[in-house]
Amino acid sequence: MDTDLQQNQQKKPKEGSSISLSSTINQKPGSSFRFWSGIALTVLLIFATSMVIKTIFSETLGYLTAIILFMIWILFQCFQLQKIVQWIKNPIIKNNFGNTGTYSYIYAAMVRLIRSSNRQQVLLYKTLAGFKRSTEAMSDGVVIIDNKNQIVFVTPNAERYLKIKSDLDMGKNIINLIRNPEFAEFLIKTDWSKSVVLEDLPIENRVLKLQIIPYDDNERLLICKDITKLKRLESSKKDFVANVSHELKTPLTILGGYIETMIELPLDKTKKTKMLQEMSNQTFRMERLVNDLLILSRLDTDETSAMHDEIFLESIFGKVIKNAHLINNNHHKINFRNNKKYNLLGNYEQIFSAFWNLINNAIIYTKPYGIIQISWKVNTNKEGVFEVSDTGPGIESHHLPLIAERFYRVDKSRSQESGGTGLGLSIVKNIALKHESKLEIESKIGKGSKFRIIFPLERIKKVS
Ligand code: ADP
Repeated sequence: MDTDLQQNQQKKPKEGSSISLSSTINQKPGSSFRFWSGIALTVLLIFATSMVIKTIFSETLGYLTAIILFMIWILFQCFQLQKIVQWIKNPIIKNNFGNTGTYSYIYAAMVRLIRSSNRQQVLLYKTLAGFKRSTEAMSDGVVIIDNKNQIVFVTPNAERYLKIKSDLDMGKNIINLIRNPEFAEFLIKTDWSKSVVLEDLPIENRVLKLQIIPYDDNERLLICKDITKLKRLESSKKDFVANVSHELKTPLTILGGYIETMIELPLDKTKKTKMLQEMSNQTFRMERLVNDLLILSRLDTDETSAMHDEIFLESIFGKVIKNAHLINNNHHKINFRNNKKYNLLGNYEQIFSAFWNLINNAIIYTKPYGIIQISWKVNTNKEGVFEVSDTGPGIESHHLPLIAERFYRVDKSRSQESGGTGLGLSIVKNIALKHESKLEIESKIGKGSKFRIIFPLERIKKVS
């Protein structure tokens, strides 16, 4: 491969322009016969003319005529030779040599050579452009380096991942650009059968998987794959398992403790009832946790469930408001405003679960006699907005970006007191995402919070 690949890709050869003639082509069969017969004919004509002169005038005049004609012919050939040398220096296709004569054959052969060379250059240009396009389309970054680790070619993604600038860094040693001992060690070794995973190289917080494919004695491909998301997913999976185990451990330890006490100690009826009540609470807590985990796992894996059914919001609101009044021991004032003209397209179970989680949180976290407002409307952008606002404690702003993460709690003791699992808002966020919608939260300490799900207009259906 040409070392200055990029330059080659940018220059598209034009027919008729100055080019270097490096390849050979097959001459047309029969052209050598025509070449020699032309020379023979000229020599024959000179002889014939001198013989005629000799016969008509004298022998001396005949020989003189032959010598003069031969000299003229040689001079003409020298002139043509000089012309063709000039032309070879700048081979623009323009016939100055006529259709007969020795040099017209040389000219014709050269033109064929130029045309073939042009065709090969166009083909090479197309191949290189295709190669460039295909490597650019790859999500992986590709760098071609030579046997001295000098950069020959780099794709835009590789520029991004490795912070290489194709215009400035071409020809530079890649080890000097990416200053990382592990990377240098990987490049220097000769066994490239295994890929290597490197972090912070050179973009912070990015994890790259590098692989080298040698494809000729002098050059090799360095392929870089961005596996940052995969790595994060792996670590969040590990965190998730650790969190679930931790969440289950507490109620199980409490249950175990009570069971042991009940077996070993004689307890009066009041104590026994209290313990059984606590055991029931812990069992209920584990049940809620398992239920929420099941909902999340279904949301993560279930791609098939109907997501575009018309949801009759009247029915959902009827159910959630009834539930809200049932669990509302703190006598909150619950207001409800519903724009009955619009329904929603989505999954009934999921929408019910999202709406209920927000209302349930408002009831749990708002002090007795607080005010809870629930509303459904279509805003000026024709988006559907479901909102639950409360006069609860409010949430400090630094918690807001994390609050919908799994197991994130602002106040752990209050959440546990209320039987919270720390999964409610992550379920809401997940459901919103599944409906191409977003969860927005506004909150002021001491004033209260507003949780809003905004549905895109494609999911809004006017009630007929
Ligand atoms: P939980 O099951 O603990 O309620 P969520 O994911 O539903 O879990 O909520 C995460 C945290 O957000 C809660 O622990 C709570 O601290 C806070 N939170 C949620 N809703 C409200 C609200 N309406 N008012 C104040 N804090 C809230």
